Amino acid sequence: MRQALGTSFKFSILASVMLAACSNATEETDNDAGDQQTVASVDLSSVAEHTKVQQALAAYEGMEEKNVERLITLTEIPAPPFREEKRAEELVRQFEAVGMSDISVDEVGNVLARRKGVGDGRTVAVIAHLDTVFPLSTDVTVRRDGDVLYAPGIGDNTQGLVAMLSLAEALNTYQIETEADILFVGSVGEEGLGDLRGVRHLFREDGPRIDAVVSVDGGGADRLVVDAVGSLRYRVMFSGPGGHSYGAFGLAHPHQALARTITNFTERARPITEDGAKATFSVGRIGGGTSINSIPFTSWMEVDMRSVDQAKLDALNAAFNSSVDDALAAENAARTRGPEITVEVKPVGDRPAGQGDRNAALVQNAMAAMELNGLEARLVASSTDSNIPISKGIPAITMSRGGISRNAHAPNESWEKKDPHIALRILTLTVLFETGVR
Ligand SMILES: [Zn+2]
Repeated sequence: MRQALGTSFKFSILASVMLAACSNATEETDNDAGDQQTVASVDLSSVAEHTKVQQALAAYEGMEEKNVERLITLTEIPAPPFREEKRAEELVRQFEAVGMSDISVDEVGNVLARRKGVGDGRTVAVIAHLDTVFPLSTDVTVRRDGDVLYAPGIGDNTQGLVAMLSLAEALNTYQIETEADILFVGSVGEEGLGDLRGVRHLFREDGPRIDAVVSVDGGGADRLVVDAVGSLRYRVMFSGPGGHSYGAFGLAHPHQALARTITNFTERARPITEDGAKATFSVGRIGGGTSINSIPFTSWMEVDMRSVDQAKLDALNAAFNSSVDDALAAENAARTRGPEITVEVKPVGDRPAGQGDRNAALVQNAMAAMELNGLEARLVASSTDSNIPISKGIPAITMSRGGISRNAHAPNESWEKKDPHIALRILTLTVLFETGVR
């Protein structure tokens, strides 16, 4: 394995910078007592300066071409939500290839690879999602142009899987002994209608013990997701008999009920979004109707609401549901003939929100790892696999998968091999700060 010269040298200079930056953080978590006790006892400088850790960090540059091969292999296996099993099989093979032995696939299809620690009983989970937003029929052949690789799903989040595999390989190659276990997870159903089903299952009541979570998703090595943007999504359908626009005039009108709903909802939701934590709402799609001279028999819409604040999300939800009920009643009351129209409100997404604790050891450790690599953390809110642990009060962050991702969720998605080792080093340090190293 080739090692980049000079990396360790640069690293040890940065390490002393970091110690100053971290002293505050560790003190704060010491004072925080309670649930963070074991985390705060990890000595960051001894981890960062550990010979084996420095070897691992220095190795990532030499792994780049091997990682591109992994990326291409995994990307070319389609993996829409609910159809991740083929890609999961390949991930199992890849975990085996990097020296993992305790590998399993759980009931919903998550791939789990446990790397035993030497012993404090804690587990730090490193999670990257297996699924992409693209349907099974999408052409996922990778086209390479120098350092830029094009294919749907290549960045989001196939590169996340590669980052996770690289970390496992580096830990195994340099025989780094961690105190806590590391549970690597290739999760199913992060995207769209997958609705976080993989992590929901992972954090079920009788699921494995997990004390902290580092999700790998998104670009920007300095990007640190600490807050969970929750969302609620509905598909709404008004249905009635329908009829001729002239001959059946007076029937309750599905489109007009839908319009009343949108007006009600816009008026009731707007004030919730005006101050405090960010909250949003959008009627993204509407449809229905057969012709210009017909009263439609159905009218439907899809609605999306988001916030990092669960209370605001709950308030938007209440505004939405009352808007539907009132619109239905008003449209039926206004009819002069025919039966009442009905409405079906179908939840199609429910991701819990939560604001992470910026003083948690995990967040501070991630910031220290970034600083060690010359970056100042940008704390952001996003919707990722970390939503579930954050909403349950389990320390969780989401970090960069490395390189530059462009046009995520679009057919012309690309990933550029631009310094992916920086994000890998940050990921490695963050995880090892969390686990402790023997
Ligand atoms: Zn993603």
